[in-house]
Amino acid sequence: MKEWLDEELVAVSAVEHYSYCPRQCALIYVECVYEDNEFTLRGSFAHARADESDETVDGQVLIERALPIWSDEYGLVGRADVVEIHPDGTILPVEYKVTPKNKMRHAEFQLCAQAICLEEMFGRAVLRGATYSSSSHQRREVVFTQELRNKTLEIVELVRSLIINKDVPPPVDDARCHNCSLVHVCFPSEVNRLRGISVEDLIFKASDKEVVE
Ligand code: SF4
Repeated sequence: MKEWLDEELVAVSAVEHYSYCPRQCALIYVECVYEDNEFTLRGSFAHARADESDETVDGQVLIERALPIWSDEYGLVGRADVVEIHPDGTILPVEYKVTPKNKMRHAEFQLCAQAICLEEMFGRAVLRGATYSSSSHQRREVVFTQELRNKTLEIVELVRSLIINKDVPPPVDDARCHNCSLVHVCFPSEVNRLRGISVEDLIFKASDKEVVE
């Protein structure tokens, strides 16, 4: 089993951030920047509710909340909002989000990373999970297909490379930015406008401006 350095470990939540926007992931995990907005605050509330007690029994289903998870094989660490352990031994992670049901695809990678951790921890296949939208109160089953697993592990390696190389990708500057809590520290339009302009260009333009004025 590979021994991971601390800086090589990937947080399962980083997988979702990278899937949404690689720069968002870098700002949080490379630059250590975090800002709340309406969506993140509502998300924190949804997670707090999911974490209300450590372990409960709902009918015959044992429910573990805020469960620490890890994978030594893939260098993953994190926490699962809710893990259901059914009487037949089925293990099923559930990820709580404020995101509407139709925008949950990024959360599916995070959920799949959780499943990969749980399989290693419990030594048992985890075939399905679920996302729960606290805004629509809808639960949606996610099947951990080989395609989803491959894509998730691909993102894990991209996140690891980004963190190790301290890489901060350029802004996507599209509709994703409207709901992003980091828009006020990312400056997507401004950064993209300045990309490709050298410091010399800026000085030259500034001195031009002074002359004209
Ligand atoms: S504002 Fe846009 S480019 Fe910047 S981190 Fe957010 S989604 Fe990514």
